[in-house]
Amino acid sequence: MTADRPLPDRDATVDAQFWAAASEGRLLVQECPDCENRQFFPREWCHFCGSEAVEWVESEGSGHVHTYTVIRRATELPAFAEDVPYVVAYVELDEGVRVCSNVVGCAPAAVEIGLPVEVAFDRVTEDLALPKFRPSEEE
Ligand SMILES: [Zn+2]
Repeated sequence: MTADRPLPDRDATVDAQFWAAASEGRLLVQECPDCENRQFFPREWCHFCGSEAVEWVESEGSGHVHTYTVIRRATELPAFAEDVPYVVAYVELDEGVRVCSNVVGCAPAAVEIGLPVEVAFDRVTEDLALPKFRPSEEE
């Protein structure tokens, strides 16, 4: 993977723990102890009840494709041109939150709504790994 792509701001307070865990191969989502809802993407407060007591919980990393699209034309960023066609999907985790990411490890034509997937970390740099998803091996 090339490193000349836009990378997440891992110093942002709300994201720091998420990216640190991802670098270790762990996927975190947030859970609110006040209303027991879970949320993704990371926020400093619960978007259901406004509580600022949100906590991190580790996801099993399994779910299914909720919806997806196939990107067939590169953006103006040349770093992505080598990947087309690629899949951008909303994956619904078994924990009940949806994560926007890529489905990798299969041809775009093999992706369909409902496809069981599991997290697969794409190591971009020594200390950064992006959570992506591949077809689940136990189907
Ligand atoms: Zn809440």
